[in-house]
Amino acid sequence: MSHWLIAGASRGIGLELTRQLALRGEQVTASLRAGSRLEALEAALAPAGSRGRLLEFDTRDESAVRAAATQVTEPVDVLVANAGAYGPQRQSSLDMDFPGVLDLLDTNALGPLRVAQAFLPQLRQGQKPRIVFMSSVLGSMALEGTFNLGYRASKAALNKIAQCLADDLKPEGIPVVAMHPGWVRTDMGGPNATLGVEESVDGILRVIDGLTVADTRRYLDYRGQDIDW
Ligand code: NDP
Repeated sequence: MSHWLIAGASRGIGLELTRQLALRGEQVTASLRAGSRLEALEAALAPAGSRGRLLEFDTRDESAVRAAATQVTEPVDVLVANAGAYGPQRQSSLDMDFPGVLDLLDTNALGPLRVAQAFLPQLRQGQKPRIVFMSSVLGSMALEGTFNLGYRASKAALNKIAQCLADDLKPEGIPVVAMHPGWVRTDMGGPNATLGVEESVDGILRVIDGLTVADTRRYLDYRGQDIDW
């Protein structure tokens, strides 16, 4: 049994990660924001019994993230920084809602690092600790296309942050990877996405289960295939 921390678990991929991990008998700490829908997450955590726990924080709020971290006194083995947003309507290079995109950058690029920094003491005590930042192929510098520039830029920034954290934690033997979950039918991915959430999460968990320090600084999809930065 390992202890997993899933940040951003109220819906979509984070909720399904929590559900599958609880069913598999892991210890699961799952976070959601104040005011988010609680029922589905409680149901997903139920099979974990006393090994399940809820934390409440918005990843943009450093003091809330740090306060939540003080509630976790035992080691954490895996952090999945999953919380993410798609952002405002106007986010192209020709017409941008700048405050809206600044907020998106806060959530998608800085949020995962805030969570990783806050829980680093617990991760350092974990068995085979691993950090996974939920990125997107849309953050790849190699990918063409211009739609949703704000989202792309936020995930590109997250990718750079993942690389730097990977380099900083390599001497401690803690791998850090950026992950693309596939195009998944969630509120964010929409109904036309190619993958069901169960299939995506099944793949994500296989990849994370196999991660070692040799994988640090990789940008991987849910099948374990490398993506061009
Ligand atoms: P959803 O929109 O279904 O869920 C997003 C989750 O993130 C919710 O739990 C939401 O909480 C939480 N969240 C958003 N902003 C914050 C915040 N500031 N603080 C805390 N929690 C927050 O998205 P998905 O499940 O589809 O996506 C999960 C991750 O995967 C994201 O990082 C996304 O960018 C990435 N991804 C998804 C793809 C897809 O096709 N679905 C493709 C590529 C990447 P709340 O309920 O409170 O809003």
